[in-house]
Amino acid sequence: SKKHKVCVVGSGNWGTTIAKVVAENVAEHPDIFEQDIQMWVYEEEYTIPSSSKHHDPGSALSTKPQKLTQLINGLHENVKYLPDIALPKNIIANPDVASTVEGATILIFNLPHQFIGRICDNLVGKVLPYARGISCIKGVSVSDQGCELFSESIGKKLNIYCGALSGANIANEVALEKWSETTVAYEPPAMDSKQPTPEGSPHGSTANLTSLNNEKSSPKAKLAALPAEYPPLNHKNIRSLFHRPYFHVRMTTDVAGVSLGGALKNIVALAAGFVDGLGWGDNAKSAVMRIGILEEVKFGLQFFGHSCRGETFTEESCGVADIITSCSGGRNFRCAKMAVKEGKAIGEIEERELNGQKLQGTSTAYEVNAFLKVKGVEGEFPLFTAVYNILEGNNRPEDIPRLVEGHSRAD
Ligand code: NAD
Ligand code: 13P
Repeated sequence: SKKHKVCVVGSGNWGTTIAKVVAENVAEHPDIFEQDIQMWVYEEEYTIPSSSKHHDPGSALSTKPQKLTQLINGLHENVKYLPDIALPKNIIANPDVASTVEGATILIFNLPHQFIGRICDNLVGKVLPYARGISCIKGVSVSDQGCELFSESIGKKLNIYCGALSGANIANEVALEKWSETTVAYEPPAMDSKQPTPEGSPHGSTANLTSLNNEKSSPKAKLAALPAEYPPLNHKNIRSLFHRPYFHVRMTTDVAGVSLGGALKNIVALAAGFVDGLGWGDNAKSAVMRIGILEEVKFGLQFFGHSCRGETFTEESCGVADIITSCSGGRNFRCAKMAVKEGKAIGEIEERELNGQKLQGTSTAYEVNAFLKVKGVEGEFPLFTAVYNILEGNNRPEDIPRLVEGHSRAD
């Protein structure tokens, strides 16, 4: 029987961390998975900083810019985006996205959300028809068509099923193998109803992508069944790809809830950074978190109510726990706080502090606001709207209490 080939599309702070997690797990499950993990790297030149243990003043290699893929493959470390973390040797950095996904039955998408659209365009026709995806991206895709989850837009573009992974997972902590939980949503459709064939069963079949990704806007694409020679991609086997002793996976079927929790908390984390930057203390931050969770639930039920469950936000790692983590030590929180304290634009702080890592909250606040405006419901999401207006310069962080007052119930 065949084994699943797993690849990771993306190699930033979280992309590299997840590659480490799955590389460790494929080594423990050789009966299910092939051993090498191809990891796509957006190629760039990088000079090892003098503070790195890899810096050797006597070697031209370490003092001149080198290709990041060569550094990763040579040092088994992503010296730019995940420094000082030893990577398993079965991770292979690949600058070519098409060959990264070639032959892969499981594609893990993990890169800043602003880049995924173009990457998927490059992947059309390059992935196995029966491949399955997991999106670790925290963001939403807003266009004239409305607000889409990345699991949906990836699924539609590549004509594959795509689930989602999201949780209270600061990448550096996971990379250091400090315990955390995460939520994985995965529910490929039962294949053709005339021929009920659970995933991985002997009969090839098709299912309608429209029902599993976006009922309104996706074309009537057909989803190919996984050939019978492969181990089934059920919850047990998907879980075994991500679960580690230090990274506890809770499986769910709520792809929309998991995706939205990860995306919307980034707006909330900016608000937490704003009030903290004013020196307002923990009570103010908790108020922002509470209202943020309510707006997440409301957004999910109002716009993705056919599939989204409120409990996903209030009970799972991808919901309440990610709000807490992100409002404590996340990059969006930290940069927003510094921006207020220093009176600078958050983009300037992002450039200065993150060494090429990307904030997701700023663009998500604009994208979500554009969607809420079109729907005419900005006023029903006062915290999300306040964050947008603060970024735009229409309001100040000090205005947050007034802007959210009277709008603090789920209804
Ligand atoms: P990151 O913030 O480290 O971003 C840097 C990555 O973006 C690098 O791999 C870089 O090569 C790539 N990049 C830069 N310009 C590019 C371009 N033009 N085209 C394609 N790629 C380009 O990324 P990350 O931390 O891996 O985040 C990926 C996703 O995971 C995000 O949606 C994020 O919200 C989410 N996430 C991050 C963390 C975390 O702690 N870092 C934790 C959980 C989830
Ligand atoms: P930031 O992108 O704000 O660092 O959040 C990381 C994260 O998603 C933690 O779960």
